[in-house]
Amino acid sequence: ADQGVKDVVIIGGGPGGYVSAIKAAQLGLKVACVEGRGALGGTCLNVGCIPSKALLQSSHMYAEAKHAFKKHGVLVDGLAVDVAAMQQQKAAAVDGLTKGIEGLFKKNKVEYIRGWAKIKSATEVEVSTSSGSTTMVSTKNVIIATGSEVTPLPGVPVDERRIVSSTGALSLEQVPGSMVVIGGGYIGLELGSVWARLGAEVTVVEFLDHIVPTMDGEVRRAFQRSLQKQGLKFKLSTKVASAEADGAGVRLELQPSKGNGDSETMTADVVLVSTGRRPFTKGLNLEGVGVSTDPRGSIVVDEHFQTTTPGIYAIGDVIPGPMLAHKAEEDGVACVELLAGRSGHVNYNTVPSIVYTWPEVASVGKTEEQVKAEGINYKVGKFAFMANSRARSVDDTEGLVKFISDAASDKILGAHIMGPNAGELIAECVLAMEYGASTEDIARTCHGHPTLSEAVKEAAIATAFGKAIHS
Ligand code: FAD
Repeated sequence: ADQGVKDVVIIGGGPGGYVSAIKAAQLGLKVACVEGRGALGGTCLNVGCIPSKALLQSSHMYAEAKHAFKKHGVLVDGLAVDVAAMQQQKAAAVDGLTKGIEGLFKKNKVEYIRGWAKIKSATEVEVSTSSGSTTMVSTKNVIIATGSEVTPLPGVPVDERRIVSSTGALSLEQVPGSMVVIGGGYIGLELGSVWARLGAEVTVVEFLDHIVPTMDGEVRRAFQRSLQKQGLKFKLSTKVASAEADGAGVRLELQPSKGNGDSETMTADVVLVSTGRRPFTKGLNLEGVGVSTDPRGSIVVDEHFQTTTPGIYAIGDVIPGPMLAHKAEEDGVACVELLAGRSGHVNYNTVPSIVYTWPEVASVGKTEEQVKAEGINYKVGKFAFMANSRARSVDDTEGLVKFISDAASDKILGAHIMGPNAGELIAECVLAMEYGASTEDIARTCHGHPTLSEAVKEAAIATAFGKAIHS
């Protein structure tokens, strides 16, 4: 290892940490990235975004083969699921990508230090390796990018076999007969979808009276109906008081989330706890170096990502804001740009969020409920994929595109898409918002035909001019 003083030591090799390490090196800084888990890529690559998308794809292909192939004239005999092979393809994708980051580190001259970091001061980081030795790394700055972990749910002890977190749900060796998903956020719905498609009887238990609370209400209701059609069951306004694994499976005790209605019991082969994540700062010695956290455990930072201790910065899931990989990356890039004496900025109004179920749901900016609550004078335009020629030709017509724009200026305030490839389609809306565009700007932009993106254009036409062409 290089013994010289670093410009910056980054703690954590997730999307926040590894991207800022590469960017810092590209900006000419001398940088080391410390990661304890034995592989780069953090939660996202190892037990989050990437493995979940691999299993979503495998299970989607199976569901298509089962439900859609015949109509397209593709006949398959003896259709079956090989979970081991699915897990193998998932593991290969994860392994290839984590090794890829190691390659990028070498190429960009980022020093990769394997081990767990403890901050001794703003200029000294102690790293304990798995072999038990410790080394001290001297640096001018420290960036904390230690991410998040599953928040435990009282009364529901995770064993990662029958009562699982998202990590266990990504590694099941067989399709459970029944599964209860506690928490109707995007992680629960994605992983619930995976196992439901493969044959599990899935029930989502949600404390609130609706799923994914951050979603536009109209889109959310359509989304829930779609998931119900696919066989997912929902128990809303319900809380899980306890869950206990015994020989046969898991016994759960459910109660209405409000009032003192009767409790009921339920059994399931597997229970997935997906009620949220919390910042992970264990072992960093934050108190010792004067780095403050808020009541939720997030590290407090100023607009330049500096913590309450000069020279120590924090980015990604460990600071406030949406816990998303691309948000962590944006934080990281802006943080090192500032460290390198340049300008760095993140526009948190244009961070997209995507649910990778089928149909996908993607959004950016404000929901209709939000603009209403803020008293903004707004207009709405929509377009259904049912009227989009590409969606019709491939027979994938569920969902809609919805724009919300300022009534006077037509500036886009929010875009919400439920439909095929919504996660890719939202990028155009994000770019438009980043450029301060109006829906008329999108309406007057030529879109290729026949593409799903024409549904975005049509929804923009509906917003700008009151009427779409094809509806
Ligand atoms: P992390 O990725 O959590 O990385 C932090 C790293 O720091 C870890 O590898 C950890 O080992 C290391 N570390 C911690 N402490 C120390 C220490 N003291 N010393 C050394 N190393 C340390 N986001 C999306 O945008 N899209 C998705 O589709 C998506 N899907 C998800 C699916 C699941 C099932 C889960 C759980 C999450 C998903 N996320 C998704 C969220 C995403 O994974 C996180 O937002 C993202 O990983 C945060 O990046 P980060 O760099 O802040 O932290």
